[in-house]
Amino acid sequence: MLPQVIIIGRPNVGKSTLFNRLVGKKLALVDDQPGVTRDRRSGDAEIAGLKFEVVDTAGWEDDDPHTLPGRMRKQTEVSLIGADAAMMVIDARAGVTTLDEEIALWLRSQKVPVVMVCNKAEGKAAEAGIFESYALGFGDPVPVSAEHGEGIADLFGALWPII
Ligand code: GDP
Ligand code: MG
Repeated sequence: MLPQVIIIGRPNVGKSTLFNRLVGKKLALVDDQPGVTRDRRSGDAEIAGLKFEVVDTAGWEDDDPHTLPGRMRKQTEVSLIGADAAMMVIDARAGVTTLDEEIALWLRSQKVPVVMVCNKAEGKAAEAGIFESYALGFGDPVPVSAEHGEGIADLFGALWPII
């Protein structure tokens, strides 16, 4: 069984784009509408010989189990059970938001090791967000551009010691 790495973050930060980039197929639905990923999707990924199963998750909007966002959040929480590591993704252009802080607070209370991934990191607009991400408490962030395929190899260095 491959180690399992789960992608977590608020809606629209690029989780599904990163998932597709890692798996190399258009398995996850990418959309401009926040929260478009309704199902948990998983696929095999490989970075420089490091093989793992990567899991895309739904958005994280509120915790009411009677709403769709609430059910999506519950599913994300359940997905973490049994995961070997998590990649917490933020939108580096948007910087750290209240929802990012809320997700990070929850993740820090879990046992799973977390890699801080700053997506949309192409260009200077991402610099402030990358620095801000240290405050989430997961150590050195890995800047990537899932859309442009930049920084993906750097995830190797962050993942191999923990999976
Ligand atoms: P999710 O809701 O977290 O799964 O986010 P998606 O993967 O659906 O992406 C949300 C939006 O961000 C889409 O419009 C993507 O094209 C865009 N996006 C994803 N990755 C990048 C990136 O590296 N750079 C930029 N500029 N946009 C990105
Ligand atoms: Mg998605």
